[in-house]
Amino acid sequence: MKTIFRLLLVVLILTSCKKKAEQIPENPVQKAGFSIVIHGGAGTILRENMSPENKALYKSKLEEAIRVGYHILKNGGTSLDAVEKTINILEDSPLFNAGKGAVFTNEGTNEHDASIMDGKTLNAGASAGTKTVKNPISLARAIMEHSPHVMLSRSGAEQFAEEQGLEIVDPKYFYTEKSFNALQRVKNAQKTAFYNQNINDNKFGTVGCAALDKQGNLAAGTSTGGMTNKRWGRIGDSPIIGAGTYANNKTCAVSSTGWGEYFIRGMVAHDISSLMEYKNMSLEEAAKEVIHKKLPSIGDGRGDGGIIAIDKNGNMVMEFNTSGMFRATMNAHGELFIGMFKD
Ligand code: ASP
Repeated sequence: MKTIFRLLLVVLILTSCKKKAEQIPENPVQKAGFSIVIHGGAGTILRENMSPENKALYKSKLEEAIRVGYHILKNGGTSLDAVEKTINILEDSPLFNAGKGAVFTNEGTNEHDASIMDGKTLNAGASAGTKTVKNPISLARAIMEHSPHVMLSRSGAEQFAEEQGLEIVDPKYFYTEKSFNALQRVKNAQKTAFYNQNINDNKFGTVGCAALDKQGNLAAGTSTGGMTNKRWGRIGDSPIIGAGTYANNKTCAVSSTGWGEYFIRGMVAHDISSLMEYKNMSLEEAAKEVIHKKLPSIGDGRGDGGIIAIDKNGNMVMEFNTSGMFRATMNAHGELFIGMFKD
């Protein structure tokens, strides 16, 4: 009996040490004055496929990004600033399918989509199909704040970006070997039946952020290169307000990532907000309902992906129906959680 008791004690001590070392709160879904949550895309993210070096790279970039937003919020800045500046960090990294690391289209170009929404005013801005704007989320914000429109696309959006003094780059800036090789792989695989089964693996690494500031204002934003091998000016859910991004001070702020063709039809981000508004669901209940019940019921049921969201009380959720999602949260106490895999 004594030995069993001793053994139990050792196990308990060991588990608590492990938690301290990782500094990950057991339940990242918590109530706090201000808070921030980010994602770096959902998809086939398996522990066994990821080297420790790669894991460390993703982890440190997610942490760097979320800390930028956290400090803005901590110093009394707006949720809009936190969302934009946090996403800028992820856009400047080659690791994610947004900004610098955007995937390639069938024609070998990189075309970016982004959107942002202010939960206080319900103002929103979005850009689609730009090829020269370094930080598409900043363009989305400029559209929201300095144009009479919600969404601009392609050369018109690029012209507006220039007029606004945003950073314009040579399209070559967006070349990364990783994304270029992915295009070659997809083009080769396209010739096989396997491709049609696995088309949903062609997107990966979209980035997004949702934040609640000290003034109680919510904001959300999303930025992506879309899907590898996309054609004909394809636009996904990321720049579509209500599908890829939604924020409303009455309910929540949401950023989506996943197979855009399903997220558009499900109006995923707005649907979560609506369930809270009209059915009085909690954010957690609403997110689970949409990601695990509604999304898989659309069309042929292959709609996969996830969302990150915050409600008006600072509760955060990160819900996904894929094997993984790059994600992180920080609350007002400065507690950091970083996750990649399902468990
Ligand atoms: N939702 C994005 C799109 O369909 C891709 C992604 O989130 O990975 O364009």
